[in-house]
Amino acid sequence: MKIRINDHQLIQWIQGLITKFQVFYPLQDANSGVVHIQKATGSLNSDAILKPVSGVPKTSIKTFFMPQPEVIARFSIAAQDAEAFVLKEPGTALQTQVLLNIRPCDARSVALNSMPYAEDPYFQKMLKRTVIIGRPCDETCSTCFCELVGGSPHGTEGMDLVILKTEDGLALEVLTQKGADFLKQNPCAESAGLQPTPQQQGGQELPIVAREMQKKDLLALYNASFWPQIAEACINCGACTFLCPTCYCFDIQDEVAGTKGVRLRYWDSCMFPLFTLHASGHNPRGQKVQRVRNRFMHKFKYFPDRFGPVSCVGCGRCVKDCPVNIDIREVISLMQAV
Ligand code: SF4
Ligand code: SF4
Repeated sequence: MKIRINDHQLIQWIQGLITKFQVFYPLQDANSGVVHIQKATGSLNSDAILKPVSGVPKTSIKTFFMPQPEVIARFSIAAQDAEAFVLKEPGTALQTQVLLNIRPCDARSVALNSMPYAEDPYFQKMLKRTVIIGRPCDETCSTCFCELVGGSPHGTEGMDLVILKTEDGLALEVLTQKGADFLKQNPCAESAGLQPTPQQQGGQELPIVAREMQKKDLLALYNASFWPQIAEACINCGACTFLCPTCYCFDIQDEVAGTKGVRLRYWDSCMFPLFTLHASGHNPRGQKVQRVRNRFMHKFKYFPDRFGPVSCVGCGRCVKDCPVNIDIREVISLMQAV
């Protein structure tokens, strides 16, 4: 269900939300021109709310679901403490966070990451505290390819609410029960009783790339002759994986100061040699070509074999920011040809 709203009502609603919640939206940095998802303050940029800034934000939306780093436990190492080395809940108060003007590819990445993280308590806690208000893409970039991997510039997967452009203004549509409950507690114009628009249930067709990859022989892809050629230029900087909204690997480290310690979860990257280094010294992906192959095999073969869709939303961040111009679209073509 949706309602019509005007510009003034939308801005007033957001102004109200920032007094109660943490609200983030894409904004362009005045000096660098780079778009980041930034925290809304009292001085709201109404223009950037009414007409979302163009371009994919540099910020990966995963930062709101997997903070970098995230304290997952606390402990004491004091000798006299009867509970020394016992891991305890971090006790961090988590306020509702509202992500506004989120692109369809980024919202969809949250839905994809929810598959491997279905039972991850930390991710699920973040998911529960977050309301995603999406916005369809009116301007795609030369590096975007969401439709190739099963998305759409007008897709709503992963969103709770969506702001739509209509012939005579704007409309607010409810997509999930979480979105309906949020609007009930924080009404915008006449929205209080809105119920979610029924979503297509199951049976959604997988993108061609996912269907093709599921049919391909794993070893034929694994042993394909093009991997050394793709890997040659890679410098294993990890930029592609850190910027990617659908790369979700992490490392866990304990840090101690005095007698107090924290257990931290950090983003990690399969492009780093240390990622798979065993305590024995053996490294199953010690060579660059093995790491590069794993990145693409995970996204386009292992993930679809396990969950269905491919683990890529076509946001193009890795295309734009790879320092040696490795283009994932070319890799997809090569894998399709096997
Ligand atoms: S951004 Fe490019 S060079 Fe850096 S690890 Fe990824 S593919 Fe390699
Ligand atoms: S692999 Fe590249 S294009 Fe695909 S979601 Fe990650 S950053 Fe975006």
